[in-house]
Amino acid sequence: MNKKTIKDVDIKGKRVFIRVDFNVPIKNGVIEDDTRIVGALPTIKYAIEQGAKIILASHLGRPLKDKKKAEEKKMPYDASKYSLKPIAEHLSNLLGKPVNFEDSADPDGAASLVSAMDNGEVVMLENLRLHAGEEKNDDGYAQQLAGLADVYVNDAFGAAHRAHASTAGITKYVETSVAGLLMEKELNFLSKALNNPERPFVAILGGAKVSDKIPVIESLISRKVDKLLIGGAMAYTFFKAKGITVGKSLVEDEMLEKALEIETKAAESGVELILPTDHQVVDSYDPLNSRKTIPIEFTNKGLVGLDIGVETAAIFKQALEGAKTIVWNGPMGMFEEKPFDQGTIAVAEAVSEATEKGATSIVGGGDSVSAVNQAGLDDKISHISTGGGATLEFLAGEELPGVAALNDK
Ligand code: AMP
Repeated sequence: MNKKTIKDVDIKGKRVFIRVDFNVPIKNGVIEDDTRIVGALPTIKYAIEQGAKIILASHLGRPLKDKKKAEEKKMPYDASKYSLKPIAEHLSNLLGKPVNFEDSADPDGAASLVSAMDNGEVVMLENLRLHAGEEKNDDGYAQQLAGLADVYVNDAFGAAHRAHASTAGITKYVETSVAGLLMEKELNFLSKALNNPERPFVAILGGAKVSDKIPVIESLISRKVDKLLIGGAMAYTFFKAKGITVGKSLVEDEMLEKALEIETKAAESGVELILPTDHQVVDSYDPLNSRKTIPIEFTNKGLVGLDIGVETAAIFKQALEGAKTIVWNGPMGMFEEKPFDQGTIAVAEAVSEATEKGATSIVGGGDSVSAVNQAGLDDKISHISTGGGATLEFLAGEELPGVAALNDK
């Protein structure tokens, strides 16, 4: 990586502002998945060991946007859902030391708490997005945040595709801006896969929207991924484009031409594009009693495809055999509803088996990561990316503003 990291600078006794991504799912005050918090621990612990004064800052959800929506629809708005306080408590337990929480969303409110810090102490700011300046990348707000920092560390890979005050603007006002250890790990895994992959390199893409993934597909094809497996509702756009009936399955009609173009490009580049051969369907008129697995070409007008079938899962597994690099983003079906999680789980198992046989595997995106976690296979994947949008943008070959803003080595 060509960016400096926290290990390249002297942080002893300095106020080190660490932008973390603690945007984690919380229900009734309970954290449902703390992967992102655990992911940031190495950087935080390192800064503690070095005797820095650590100021942690993150966003959580979209409080101001949700408030506006609630007001427009005259619905109740629960401000407590957006506080980072439960996260500060959880982090304190993980670190085994106090994390002083600053309630005020105004950085000037945190100034006195920060000025009283001793070396090795940790302060956490309230949700950055409670301040309108954050998402607007407002200069004044960025300067206020910078006023709390001697050194800026970005460890929030999941937010690095956003040019916000705490991910980009702040770096204009702090002399030293470096990557955290999680950020470094993410960038190292992803850039190796993208720029210098050990081959065969197989990419698996799923989910509903082709449109969201077009830049990634094009980037992977131009980098001559060896095989591209496409599952999930995305595949139906490819089938419909070829004149195959997909019934009432989800299709993006505006993307039909693009799908054909992608197939042609893949063929010209020698990329093997593999689509499902069978799928689990239900009859749209009797969804609860009509589930069956059929070949794609047997899909009639009234059927909806909700998952890949067993034959496809076996074909995908075979395509992963011998792979040395695997990148996976997006579920193979409507995996939130059992039994339409079967295809996604089968792919998670196939990826973990290929990893055991020597492949480097990277899984990114909330849905595929939660499928891997649900299947208990998280420790069998080489790298579980904490980024969703950021991972996709990186794989699409785009520069991430939160990375670009850091000091070069
Ligand atoms: P995306 O945001 O494009 O990655 O899509 C993720 C969503 O796609 C998940 O919520 C899945 O339930 C959904 N999905 C994947 N395959 C299907 C399918 N065959 N039918 C309906 N939804 C699907």
